[in-house]
Amino acid sequence: MSTGGSLLEIEDLSISYLVDGIPLRGLRGVSLDLARNRILGVVGESGSGKSTLSFAITRLLPSNARIDEGSIRFEGQDLVKADMTTLETLRGDRIAMVFQDPLSSLHPCLTIGQQMSDAQRAHRRIGAGERRARSAEMLDTVGIAEAEQNLGRFPHEFSGGMRQRIMIAMSLLLQPDLLIADEPTSALDVLLQGQIIALLNGLRERLGTAVMIVSHDLGVIGEAADDVLVMYAGETMEYSPVGQIFAQPLHPYTEALLAVMPGRKARGRPLPTIPGRVPSASETSLGCAFAGRCERARSVCHANRPVYSAVGERRVRCHIYDPLSGWHVAPETGQREGAPT
Ligand code: ATP
Ligand code: MG
Repeated sequence: MSTGGSLLEIEDLSISYLVDGIPLRGLRGVSLDLARNRILGVVGESGSGKSTLSFAITRLLPSNARIDEGSIRFEGQDLVKADMTTLETLRGDRIAMVFQDPLSSLHPCLTIGQQMSDAQRAHRRIGAGERRARSAEMLDTVGIAEAEQNLGRFPHEFSGGMRQRIMIAMSLLLQPDLLIADEPTSALDVLLQGQIIALLNGLRERLGTAVMIVSHDLGVIGEAADDVLVMYAGETMEYSPVGQIFAQPLHPYTEALLAVMPGRKARGRPLPTIPGRVPSASETSLGCAFAGRCERARSVCHANRPVYSAVGERRVRCHIYDPLSGWHVAPETGQREGAPT
């Protein structure tokens, strides 16, 4: 949770995708804060808007995306209103991104050394010798031994885990203030996932980088993040420090995500899933987006969209936690119930 002086502040961000002239929901009223030196984990099922949020920050959204409202302030500057020159200066330099598939981000015909050198040349006036030295140092930092020799190798000569490390090394070359990692570990096995997470943790301590790590896996987020943002159908449902979200999830959707975490299943049994289906991007409900799958939903949940309310230092978009929503009034008796635990 931000303690003032946020590096990144997003407020009420709504984005739609135009398909055949019809706007489909991408994000709806997303707000978040990220301070320097913190790791924010963004979690949610497929289609919840995690990548839309990641690409929006550097304004690298697909051409059919439209920012309908809201602001994305990076060190106070609103990137929604920024011109191309400003955005190009920020990208790769102050804000870096690591994607899920390192093979599609690395050029297959250029050596790692050439690619790392080019990444620096685009933003810094430094000579070839220094660029190579910095590249070798960064490979070393991400745990790739014999950095000098490896700079002369091509992407296909490395394993998936090594390529992911190379991508992280490349993104950190210019010591960005913010690193956005969209599913950086999902293509890796469990052991490598752990190593990459430890690496991100160490780097933010050494370099002071703020990290936004995106995953559909709450287990990965639990190991890596300080704070967690839970997304569902393009909306922010809960925002909490990581310890609290595991000890006492507030939103019924967070509870459901925890219940289906892979680590909790019995070995050999099929992975449980949350019953029901995610609303499609063309469905806009009047009420809570999760109401159709929520075991605790009442009529108010289907009728009115919950506000994103503060619960201590946490935030949650659920009628249960909004004393003004009427959720506490039992439908049968009209009596007020005790606060849910
Ligand atoms: P995943 O876990 O599968 O990566 P995600 O949480 O990253 O999912 P997004 O890729 O941000 O989700 O997608 C959010 C919604 O926007 C989805 O309903 C998706 O189908 C839709 N969407 C994404 N890109 C486009 C596009 N270019 N045109 C139309 N709809 C899109
Ligand atoms: Mg995605």
